[in-house]
Amino acid sequence: MKHMKTVLILEHTEEVFDKLTCDVCGAESHWDENWGKKEHEKILTTISMEEEESFPNGGQSQLIQYHICPDCFKAHLSKWMESHRGNKPTVTTSVW
Ligand SMILES: [Zn+2]
Repeated sequence: MKHMKTVLILEHTEEVFDKLTCDVCGAESHWDENWGKKEHEKILTTISMEEEESFPNGGQSQLIQYHICPDCFKAHLSKWMESHRGNKPTVTTSVW
């Protein structure tokens, strides 16, 4: 006997995260937004500006981001920042 059942099939499209690429060299991340190359590595980079206005009846915000791989962060962005008036980064270290 051939048994049939009713199933709900939804057809729709939506934007889902596919991959992250470096805006400087085009390299692709290996793990979503994690630039690490090994499973035990987590390397995140952030270059962004968020502007927000809040009023009693609502507000608005805008987030502008550049995505950059760790190699370009070290080879280009850090060197560029440090070449301007000797800027040094804020470095925070954790050990567990
Ligand atoms: Zn890059």
